[in-house]
Amino acid sequence: MKDTFKHKGMRQKLVDVLIKKGIKDEKVLRAISEIPRHLFMDSGFLDHAYQDKAFPIAADQTISQPYTVAFQSELLKINSGDKILEIGTGSGYQTAVLCLLGAKVFSIERQKELFKKTSKFLPKLGYRAKKLVFGDGYKGMPEEAPFKSIIVTAGAPFVPNPLLAQLEIGGRLVIPVGEDVQTMTLFIRKGLKEFEKHELGEFRFVPLLEDKN
Ligand code: SAH
Repeated sequence: MKDTFKHKGMRQKLVDVLIKKGIKDEKVLRAISEIPRHLFMDSGFLDHAYQDKAFPIAADQTISQPYTVAFQSELLKINSGDKILEIGTGSGYQTAVLCLLGAKVFSIERQKELFKKTSKFLPKLGYRAKKLVFGDGYKGMPEEAPFKSIIVTAGAPFVPNPLLAQLEIGGRLVIPVGEDVQTMTLFIRKGLKEFEKHELGEFRFVPLLEDKN
């Protein structure tokens, strides 16, 4: 598990690419420039770790494209200490970004293999989520609600009601919605039953599946 100057240089180039693609949030860019993405990937893909692309991880899942991670993280408008729920821990890369942004991170993963691997790996790198759970993200984490923001990192065929219900007033839900192609959707909770909805372009994610595996 090595991070070198060469990797740091490649990360800086990746940050330049993200700036060109429109990412502005300095804190998000700093997190991407600091986190050794190559350590979150399988060894066969190490040479590609700093390309702006998604790559396979275990259990037929993917580590999200850096642009997507940056875009979603920017939409969350995180302040230090915010309580954030992530659905789809996967490799833990997005989780690490949230930790570096100062969030108290709660994250759910439905693939046992990934849950086990990432729960061991993240603390080794010094990223300490508040709680990593093996479970079904459609249900959210009612015992820890409400959350300042919720981020879904898999394509949801519909917006799960429990996630909207677990947002605090003023809170934000960032969720890609759709079957084959997803529309990045931001909900801002304005009142008990009032949500503002913004649609922010098309993305492609692995599907948010029901139940645990
Ligand atoms: N944030 C991850 C993205 C991984 S891809 C990363 O950067 O690596 C999406 C993840 O969502 C996969 O790990 C998949 O297993 C998980 N997932 C799919 N359906 C889920 C569900 N219902 N609940 C929780 N996690 C789910």
